[in-house]
Amino acid sequence: MYRIGNGYDVHRLVEGRKLILGGVDIPHTLGLDGHSDADALVHAIADALLGAIGCGDIGKYFPDTDPKWKGVSSLILLKEVGAMCEKRGFVIANIDSILAAQKPKIAPYINEMKKNIADVLGVDQERVNVKATTTESLGYVGREEGMAAYAVALLQRKN
Ligand code: MG
Repeated sequence: MYRIGNGYDVHRLVEGRKLILGGVDIPHTLGLDGHSDADALVHAIADALLGAIGCGDIGKYFPDTDPKWKGVSSLILLKEVGAMCEKRGFVIANIDSILAAQKPKIAPYINEMKKNIADVLGVDQERVNVKATTTESLGYVGREEGMAAYAVALLQRKN
């Protein structure tokens, strides 16, 4: 039995914040703003997993009003979400994701992102795909006001 979920997240780009994507600290003049490390890619993936098990979204479990999650690595949140999937008897068949970012170049960091995500979820890296695109300078992503991430996850019930 298969279950599918999708996730979407946007964070604003600001000065004075680190740019963390897929758990990778990427050198850049701007970073994503948010309560946690604002890792939009990991948030979208976590929401896709929660969607697949019918458990709402990450805001429900890790509210931005809770000081416990302030500045925390989103990989920690993702690990908890992975454990929720496992507890409900599901294994991850695959995850696909897209990061929309005008700058900087994301390609050099994709393998490390995949490794980080696969490691916290306890799956092979070939089950996790990360893609990146610019928006050809169009819209808020193109104007470098923010970044957006999209993800889908397919889960399979064990035995
Ligand atoms: Mg978010």
